[in-house]
Amino acid sequence: MENQEKKLLDLCEKVVANGQLNKDEIRFLFDCPDELSQLVFDAADKVREREMGNQVHLRGLIEFSSYCSRNCMYCGLRRDIEGLQRYRMEIPEIVKCAVNAEKLGYRSVVLQSGEDPYYTAEKIAEMVSEIKSATDLAITLSAGEFSYRGYKLMRDAGADRYLLRFETADRELYKAIHPDSDYDERIECLHMLRELNYQVGSGFMVGLPGETTETLVQNILLLKTLDVDMAGIGPFIPNPQTPLADAKGGLLLTTLKAVAMARLVLRNIHIPATTAMGSLDRLGRQKALKAGANVVMPNVTPMQLREMYQLYPNKICLTDDPAHCRNCITGIITSLGREVSQEHGHSLKLYSKSTRSKEKESHE
Ligand code: SAH
Ligand code: SF4
Repeated sequence: MENQEKKLLDLCEKVVANGQLNKDEIRFLFDCPDELSQLVFDAADKVREREMGNQVHLRGLIEFSSYCSRNCMYCGLRRDIEGLQRYRMEIPEIVKCAVNAEKLGYRSVVLQSGEDPYYTAEKIAEMVSEIKSATDLAITLSAGEFSYRGYKLMRDAGADRYLLRFETADRELYKAIHPDSDYDERIECLHMLRELNYQVGSGFMVGLPGETTETLVQNILLLKTLDVDMAGIGPFIPNPQTPLADAKGGLLLTTLKAVAMARLVLRNIHIPATTAMGSLDRLGRQKALKAGANVVMPNVTPMQLREMYQLYPNKICLTDDPAHCRNCITGIITSLGREVSQEHGHSLKLYSKSTRSKEKESHE
């Protein structure tokens, strides 16, 4: 044990200093015994502090439609769930919600939905440009797969970022849990988003059925290959309404390790302490913020709609109004000795320079 601890400490020290981890080293860190995982979290926390500082960026999450034409096996919005009460917010309501988020001090919103045919790329582009005219918010979209033309329309309308998780880097597993989606098409979408100069977010779930340490290692390496600006990582939480109802689901500790590894390997990207982590453990988001995360995405969707957007069960904050969530999250962040950022929280990477210079201009 002592030897293993020494090797782990040396490796953590090395990676904090130079950020180089090969595949075997990533696997070794993932496989470290639970009682030593704190060393990995501490290393990731150091890298986070040095690369990203102590500010935590808030993104207000607006879940604008719970209709979905896909049938992902794990998801509470999948097409085949019968009797699910679904909703769709209209553009004026979404703009109002964004304006309200800005009033609460958010500098950025994430517009998320199922793949709802009602929300064509044209319509989402219209939504983006209306929010841009009414506010100074940075906008992330997370509405699934579109054509190049579709993504371009939304980007031209002013969308800054796009979040599209690859869910797992294991092709076979991807196929097994996505009856109507294709792994290569998903990855192609991520390349298109990059080409269109979006700040690109991707990521994966931890604890999908059949996943191994090797899958997790591949997930981290794929984030690196894609050179993402943001990585969203959360535990898979089995939903009783889905075919994966009886699966085991992801553990918080493994998810925290994945967050820490993403920080150690990708260095200066944005990493949220996801709501799914907070849903698994009351202190899940706090723990993630101490293991490499630097972003939180509080829900700003109107309260009466939230119950109808349950990707997984026991989602937190279902009954808290946006103002309450804002205060609660500030409390969490300050209690950790961190600060709420007042900036848009754009990517720190070079290729997003164009967006950032725009931001600079708007401050001048
Ligand atoms: N329709 C879009 C965005 C909404 S789903 C898309 O699929 O990209 C957003 C994310 O929720 C998914 O990427 C998936 O990683 C996550 N998710 C869905 N079901 C989940 C579950 N049961 N447990 C944990 N995360 C889940
Ligand atoms: Fe639809 Fe996204 Fe859920 Fe898949 S994960 S069913 S695309 S909302």
